[in-house]
Amino acid sequence: MDLLSMWEGTANNSMNRSLLEGEECCDVVIIGGGFTGLSTAYHLQEKQCSTIVLEQGKVGCGASGRNGGEVLTGYLGSMEYWTEKKGLHAAKKMWQLSLDSIDLIENIINKHDISCDFKRNGDFLAAYKPSHLESMKKDQEFMASKLNYYGIDIVEKNEIKNELETSFYSGGRVDYKSAHFHPLNYTLGLAKAAEKLGAKIYERSEATGVKRNSKNKFIVRTDKGKVIADNLVIATNAYSGDLNKIVKKSVVPVESIMIATESLPEDVVEALIKNNRAVSDTKNLLYYFRRTGDNRLAFGGSGRASSKRDQNRIYENLLEGMLSVFPQLKGTRIEYRWGGKVGFTQNMLPCIGQLKDGAHFAFGYGGHGAAMASLLGKTMAEDILEEGDPDNPLRIKKLRSIPFHNQHSKAVGVMKFYKQFQDRFFG
Ligand SMILES: Cc1cc2nc3c(=O)[nH]c(=O)nc-3n(C[C@H](O)[C@H](O)[C@H](O)COP(=O)(O)OP(=O)(O)OC[C@H]3O[C@@H](n4cnc5c(N)ncnc54)[C@H](O)[C@@H]3O)c2cc1C
Repeated sequence: MDLLSMWEGTANNSMNRSLLEGEECCDVVIIGGGFTGLSTAYHLQEKQCSTIVLEQGKVGCGASGRNGGEVLTGYLGSMEYWTEKKGLHAAKKMWQLSLDSIDLIENIINKHDISCDFKRNGDFLAAYKPSHLESMKKDQEFMASKLNYYGIDIVEKNEIKNELETSFYSGGRVDYKSAHFHPLNYTLGLAKAAEKLGAKIYERSEATGVKRNSKNKFIVRTDKGKVIADNLVIATNAYSGDLNKIVKKSVVPVESIMIATESLPEDVVEALIKNNRAVSDTKNLLYYFRRTGDNRLAFGGSGRASSKRDQNRIYENLLEGMLSVFPQLKGTRIEYRWGGKVGFTQNMLPCIGQLKDGAHFAFGYGGHGAAMASLLGKTMAEDILEEGDPDNPLRIKKLRSIPFHNQHSKAVGVMKFYKQFQDRFFG
């Protein structure tokens, strides 16, 4: 699903970087040029630790340059659920990490003047059913009484016009701390900021093999060269290939797709999403949407195609979805359609840790990587510098591959069909 994304079509000038040729040495070699890998490079370079990033395509060609750009608080699942699973102490830390992740991005953007339409206007979670609104009210209470978080407001069904020009939903809730941005421009800006601090980034340089030499250094090979380094970071998330089998088998890649309208008159797009928030909903197969810096509506959902015909069908379904939320957009031209892979772990939480050979990893952000990946990139840098918090609740001691991993994408396809069915007929 390599159609030109709207972010690529509207990106700031991006440079072409050279590919790795010959032998290079550095303190830390990083595989993957998305939010995670680039943030690790940036934060290591800030501490005078030399880095080389190897990216198999171009910077941001994975999920980081293709996502919805919704920079959201929290995780998949409610904080009440995570409190039950992990205890109150861990849940409080997890929530704080999610807030820190957005502050971190805001600081990097401001410090390096990254032009990426960053808007911290909050997010609106739209309730698909009245019962979902009731759950949101309980969540709001829980967040205030247990996590001392008061940044949430409930929007009743009869007030929804203050947020969205639609009658599709049964109300919703606002979280004022979330944000949205142009994800590819943020990625490109982060890469430039890391390079300014001394990082080297090679594109079209797929890491094809990793081993340790007799001096216990990592040697990472590419087609035309190799990097020798004291430390290795694997930041390949849902795009992990056969380079490391355990990483590959610990993350389930799930396709998500997006469409974007032509640029709309300002008053039209402003009316759709009044307060310019990042929006998502509580459908089993969720929709997420937002305004862009150039006044388009970008609209995403799930979809997986196994043939060209299939591909057309899933985008048509998504357009149908967009029109069921905003029927007033009928006849509006769709200028871009694209997709990418979202990485999920078995317990649905992002994870960070070290492999048996000492390589560092962080991945599996679900639909929350636009916020969390920059923070876990920073956390990996801190771990390498031995400044990391051992009590980080996202840390795992031993990475285990998911049993029957290769059956998962098929299972995801079946689940999606079932959930779509539920949304349509029991909605
Ligand atoms: C359509 C879509 C919409 C999404 N919407 C949102 C959203 O609105 N909000 C949100 O929070 N999250 C969203 N996500 C998820 C989010 O984009 C990811 O969680 C995040 O980008 C992960 O960043 P990353 O750096 O870990 O991975 P990536 O950006 O995927 O980077 C991994 C990189 O590794 C490279 N790579 C892989 N193997 C090798 C190798 N052997 N050698 C060299 N390079 C290699 C890949 O080319 C890739 O560039 C969305 C994802 C998609 C696809």
